[in-house]
Amino acid sequence: MTYAITQTCCTDATCIAACPVNCIHPTPEEKDFGRTEMLFIDPKACIDCGACADACPVDAILPVESLTGAQKEYGAVNAAYFEDREPEPAVDGPNFHAWSEPVFERSLPSDFAPLRIAVVGTGPAGMYAVEDLLLHTGAEVTLVDRLPVAGGLIRYGVAPDHPSTKKAGDAFARFHTHPRVRMFLGLDVGTDITPEELAAHHDAVVYAVGAGADRRLGIPGEDLPGSISATTFVSWYNAHPEVAPDAVGLSTERVVVVGNGNVAVDTARILVSDPDTLAAGDIAAHALDALRSGGVREVVLLGRRGPAEAAYTRPELLALKHLPGVELVVDDHDPRTGAAIDAAGPGDKAAVLRGVTRAKVDWSLAPAAGRRIVIRFHSAPVEVLGDDGVRAVRVTGGAG
Ligand SMILES: Cc1cc2nc3c(=O)[nH]c(=O)nc-3n(C[C@H](O)[C@H](O)[C@H](O)COP(=O)(O)OP(=O)(O)OC[C@H]3O[C@@H](n4cnc5c(N)ncnc54)[C@H](O)[C@@H]3O)c2cc1C
Ligand code: SF4
Ligand code: SF4
Repeated sequence: MTYAITQTCCTDATCIAACPVNCIHPTPEEKDFGRTEMLFIDPKACIDCGACADACPVDAILPVESLTGAQKEYGAVNAAYFEDREPEPAVDGPNFHAWSEPVFERSLPSDFAPLRIAVVGTGPAGMYAVEDLLLHTGAEVTLVDRLPVAGGLIRYGVAPDHPSTKKAGDAFARFHTHPRVRMFLGLDVGTDITPEELAAHHDAVVYAVGAGADRRLGIPGEDLPGSISATTFVSWYNAHPEVAPDAVGLSTERVVVVGNGNVAVDTARILVSDPDTLAAGDIAAHALDALRSGGVREVVLLGRRGPAEAAYTRPELLALKHLPGVELVVDDHDPRTGAAIDAAGPGDKAAVLRGVTRAKVDWSLAPAAGRRIVIRFHSAPVEVLGDDGVRAVRVTGGAG
């Protein structure tokens, strides 16, 4: 038996320190770190101790033999990373794990006062900063967020059917009540308090405020009713306090999602998943009601480039491929799409689409029976059509 890292890995590298035999890669010292979608366990080196599984904050590590359904492929996915891989030299040579002499500060200066640091933002970036300050310094921390609930996009972005990922929020929450932390929620820096006021009361201010604005498409019709940003949609199903329960209407049968990154995959999955399955997560009640009573049966993901360049990660695409009751289809309108899938090597992103139905979709017809997600590559939107609401989307790469 060996362990494997699976879909929910967010590459925070917590597991690496737990592994006694250094078989989880790439490590932060290796050049591939930050370039891979997830970390991988070398099945030839793993001694099955399970320490990494205990350390992982999002339950991404499991024994290979326990993997079922969409997770089953992760044994091979982990092993594939180590095929033909040259081991990288240890950063500090043979003394990499050696202890250095301990150094103790013997006395405090007479004017000693702990540093006071403000951290703005309670998302992952802010909380990693807080964790580091608390564990490695004696600083007192003022933690500020403009929203009434802490967590940033862990709370209001990550999809409700990804409970393991949301669990990372529990790991951060243990610092909210730390004796050296004072947390202020519902306090907007820039509105309720100025940056200058905050700076005047602290030795340093860390801004970890995330990405606040949507990216606009800049095409005609973008502002028609029914055309909404992913931020609005995601916030709606996550019960964000600033998005009204009626902000999203789901009476249509077909929804077009522009883009094919992981957020696009999240929105597509939520739109066509069985609402009874979603009910097991912490989806907003108004969203669940709308999904139950709505008519959406087909979601079209538009990708500007081909299957090899798609923005989603392999783990998220794999999950889409195995979504119960939902067919995944690739629109075969452009010969480059099939060619890229057929030519893909085993570890390539496009190879995940091998075996997926390919069909030339006739968009003048209503969606086929059942629920499905259609990925259309080599196709970008040029105009949203409609008078008092979205009726269609005109795209590049053939009739849309
Ligand atoms: C839809 C969606 C799904 C995702 N799913 C996953 C996933 O499954 N797995 C994964 O690993 N990652 C996922 N991510 C990515 C992950 O959520 C982000 O990378 C991460 O949350 C970014 O952390 P952050 O701390 O930089 O920003 P944020 O999480 O955005 O936190 C920023 C915080 O700053 C606060 N803030 C902003 N301005 C102010 C101000 N002026 N005053 C006070 N406070 C302020 C905000 O309220 C917020 O709480 C997803 C992202 C999205 C959008
Ligand atoms: S601890 Fe879990 S989430 Fe973090 S890198 Fe390891 S497997 Fe991925
Ligand atoms: S099970 Fe043990 S040996 Fe295997 S990767 Fe995890 S920590 Fe390392």
